[in-house]
Amino acid sequence: VVPPIHSVYVLDADDRVTGVNDAWRAFAVENGAPELADGVLGRRVWEFMSGGDADAVYRALFASVREGRTVAVPYRCDAPSRTREFELVLSPRSGGAIECATRVLGERERPPVPLLDAGAPRRDDFLHMCGWCKRVNLQDAWVSAEEAVQRLALFAGGPVPRVTHGICPDCADRLFHAVA
Ligand SMILES: [Zn+2]
Repeated sequence: VVPPIHSVYVLDADDRVTGVNDAWRAFAVENGAPELADGVLGRRVWEFMSGGDADAVYRALFASVREGRTVAVPYRCDAPSRTREFELVLSPRSGGAIECATRVLGERERPPVPLLDAGAPRRDDFLHMCGWCKRVNLQDAWVSAEEAVQRLALFAGGPVPRVTHGICPDCADRLFHAVA
């Protein structure tokens, strides 16, 4: 059984967002970005990306889709107290447009991870998180957010490092391989 499509956004040939569905709007509100619910329309998708290698992966995925392929890649979209396995399905549409849809493959409860809590007080230091697998770079190793919280002795309610998003080498390999 293929799980149903959840949120959807559509890009035109210039990578501008031309449409989002209600589930996408609801997800933006749920995740602390209500201004994007409608404000995203007409803006280029690159404004919302983290830059560098992470953008390079998306450019490779979009280029492959514009050649006529449908590409499906799994990723993690965790909430503080839930791990969420999603799949991103990119499909070609006429005139160079791309439909970007997500499916929810699975969700699991876990003790809250303060790093992912948008309301947690922040310190001045930064942690680098992979936007695809949600692992965190700690002393040159990529570890789960739970392990990072444990190793850095971060507690619920206490201040936590800021998080910048990018892509880890494993996900970069996996995603470039998906369109190779
Ligand atoms: Zn990763």
